[in-house]
Amino acid sequence: MTATALPRTPLDPSLLAELRRLLGDRLSTSAAVCAQHGKDESYHAPHSPDAVAFAQSTDEVAEIVSLCCAHKTPVIPFGTGTSLEGHVAALKGGICVDMSQMDRIVSVHAEDLDATVEAGVTRKQLNQHLRDTGLFFPIDPGADASLGGMAATRASGTNAVRYGTMRENVLALTVVLADGRVIRTARRARKSAAGYDLTRLFIGSEGTLGVITELTVRLYGIPEAISAAVCAFPTIEDAVDTVILTIQSGVPVARIELLDEAQIAAINKYSKLDHQIAPTLFFEFHGTSAAVAEQAETVGAIAADHGGADFRWATTPEARSQLWQARHDAYYAALALRPGSKGWATDVCVPISQLAACIRETKRDLAQSPIPSALVGHVGDGNFHLVFMIDPNQPEEVAEASRLNDRMVARALAMDGTSQHWRARGGVWEAGFFDRRARRGG
Ligand SMILES: Cc1cc2nc3c(=O)[nH]c(=O)nc-3n(C[C@H](O)[C@H](O)[C@H](O)COP(=O)(O)OP(=O)(O)OC[C@H]3O[C@@H](n4cnc5c(N)ncnc54)[C@H](O)[C@@H]3O)c2cc1C
Repeated sequence: MTATALPRTPLDPSLLAELRRLLGDRLSTSAAVCAQHGKDESYHAPHSPDAVAFAQSTDEVAEIVSLCCAHKTPVIPFGTGTSLEGHVAALKGGICVDMSQMDRIVSVHAEDLDATVEAGVTRKQLNQHLRDTGLFFPIDPGADASLGGMAATRASGTNAVRYGTMRENVLALTVVLADGRVIRTARRARKSAAGYDLTRLFIGSEGTLGVITELTVRLYGIPEAISAAVCAFPTIEDAVDTVILTIQSGVPVARIELLDEAQIAAINKYSKLDHQIAPTLFFEFHGTSAAVAEQAETVGAIAADHGGADFRWATTPEARSQLWQARHDAYYAALALRPGSKGWATDVCVPISQLAACIRETKRDLAQSPIPSALVGHVGDGNFHLVFMIDPNQPEEVAEASRLNDRMVARALAMDGTSQHWRARGGVWEAGFFDRRARRGG
């Protein structure tokens, strides 16, 4: 099952001519370029836009959008295309605005711990730029996504348990609205009680409310000490209980990630590692040397009480980066277990006290299903994902993944949690003028 294409109105040749006049060869109608911009990293079928505009400034984006507005043509912003839910599929065609050439770091205010960047800057690019300042930008959803795309999808990831998500880390945005007007949602100040919180309205709006062209984000000092460790557990309940107690004890872990046996087997094979095949937690601790040692000792004791085997420490930057690279490659490692499969990534989050029950019941469902899957979770936040490795051309597999996903979502909602994946019954959800994907997760 894939996002449903909608009737397309052929592009007005005069719009193309006007865009061509504005952008020259930075407007592409090549089938290959359009195809590349109509698909993401998921199982959803691609839907190409009619043309791709490579913008280089806020003014240019404003002109593109006002021209499209005048011609009633959909606009789909595009960061790096790493999203997992059919976000960039151009269901009605239209103009894709590719932000990759808006990749300037506008300013870094080290003393204020913030930076302003164009929306096409990726998180790795920003951290590379910051490397001599002693500062870093912590949000890390795995993919080297654009900051505009991360804001648009309200990305979180492995560091969210300590540093929050994009919602907590964006101070201000410059946005081109659907009619081409440009607004700045806030200033750099940390506190404002003046007016509506427009910044947060746009964070998570997934391209439906406007094109983000610049962001001001929070930065943090690189911790004096960083330590990472891996610990295997007899059962997934033991691993989850360790997480719950760690969070409830107020240990400020920077990362705490759960991988089930299937996921560990997958990363061992994909990244040529030799982790014990068992439910496993990956930890990272940040702070002064003394604080890191204290956190590690507390968590070590909690883990031991739950049958956690010895911690395997990764203390050098190289060992840490190997460990987290393997975690970041988990999605592709899972897909590699079934060559040719596509990923259906689920995403639920529950209050931490409900996490063990939610995972236990989900695993019970999985045990009775023929669909292969692997579980990874940013469990410190109560958030976990399953990747179903499916053949999207087999309707029964898609139906089964959809059934399992529906049950997970219903379970999470019943536990007062939330889901990133909803089903739009009967077609598409459209918001205003900006086009959006039709359905997520089903
Ligand atoms: C392997 C893998 C693991 C992941 N793990 C996590 C995870 O753990 N946690 C998590 O939160 N996410 C995760 N993600 C998803 C990730 O957050 C998104 O892929 C990323 O944030 C999207 O950024 P992008 O630049 O690729 O945006 P795109 O995929 O290009 O676009 C995504 C959406 O944002 C819109 N958009 C893009 N740029 C702009 C802009 N400038 N203005 C307005 N709208 C815009 C698009 O129209 C689209 O709707 C993962 C992805 C992958 C591939």
